[in-house]
Amino acid sequence: MADASGGFISPEFVGRDRICGPGSLYTTSRHLLLETPVPPLAADRRPPLVVTEQINQTRQIVWQAQRRGSKVGFVPTMGALHVGHLSLIQAAREECDFVVVSIFVNPTQFGPQEDLTKYPRPLAHDLKLCEEAGVNVVFHPTVETMYPTGFQTFVEVGEVSEVLEGKCRPGHFRGVATVVLKLFHAVPADFAYFGQKDYQQQAIIRQMCRDLDVPIEIRVCPTVREPDGLALSSRNVYLNSEERRSALALHRSLQLAKKLISAGHTDLTAIRAEMFAELTKTPRVRAEYATLIHPETLEEVPELQPRLVGVVAARVGATRLIDNLIIEA
Ligand code: AMP
Repeated sequence: MADASGGFISPEFVGRDRICGPGSLYTTSRHLLLETPVPPLAADRRPPLVVTEQINQTRQIVWQAQRRGSKVGFVPTMGALHVGHLSLIQAAREECDFVVVSIFVNPTQFGPQEDLTKYPRPLAHDLKLCEEAGVNVVFHPTVETMYPTGFQTFVEVGEVSEVLEGKCRPGHFRGVATVVLKLFHAVPADFAYFGQKDYQQQAIIRQMCRDLDVPIEIRVCPTVREPDGLALSSRNVYLNSEERRSALALHRSLQLAKKLISAGHTDLTAIRAEMFAELTKTPRVRAEYATLIHPETLEEVPELQPRLVGVVAARVGATRLIDNLIIEA
């Protein structure tokens, strides 16, 4: 369904997360809602993977592909690829003839106390996964390439970036919007693929593209989860086994909101309190927020709406996790 602003959330994705089957590289095809493991592409069907580091070179390759008539799909990532990322690559491959993935751990979106230096960077494994997934180009710039000495221009998106993560992580979305716009200039694709997992991020990117007339269509793909409901995240590797168990509180909190709304509860203040309590009562979990918001404005609406988004953020041990769920009343 195209929203009024030209953003895009495919109707079959709304409220339908995907469960990651054991041992499957991918979980589902874009058009199937249940688990259909999709193996890596056979070696003779994979395009040769080109790895680029330079902005101009990458742009030329994309333009060349487009001149040949290819639709180009782009998947921006910070690497440490998992099935969630691969599902975006898969969606891009289904819709486009040529797929570019960027791998760049963007320093400007990390706060001073955050995990920039310890963020996982398993590049060789990431490249192998990209090759097996049929990616054409991996753009892997250095920090110096993206932020050369003297860099001083940043993108600030307004209200949608001020709430939730924007409040908890000051400056985070300024870094995200800036790097994504820069990546869009390096990779002037036809379509770019983002995960619903980072709900506020996709809303901000869509807002930025509308406001700054970026000629790239944004696709939002469903969250891929472990069979027990934990949303896949590159940060899950930080969790020890007890924290891994505690981390399920985020999913439980969202499911509780969904259950209460389906059961006819309409008092959003009470539901929000229950969501928060579900986090706080779990050992090793420090809740940051648990609330219900409007899907587009991201405001905490006072009354039940046909569609709301449950959003949660918490520290589990030292690891900060977020999750969300679209809830239809
Ligand atoms: P990151 O590498 O964390 O910056 O994520 C790159 C892209 O992958 C973003 O658009 C994320 O929303 C998306 N992503 C991360 N985790 C998941 C997941 N579990 N399911 C679907 N997409 C995801």
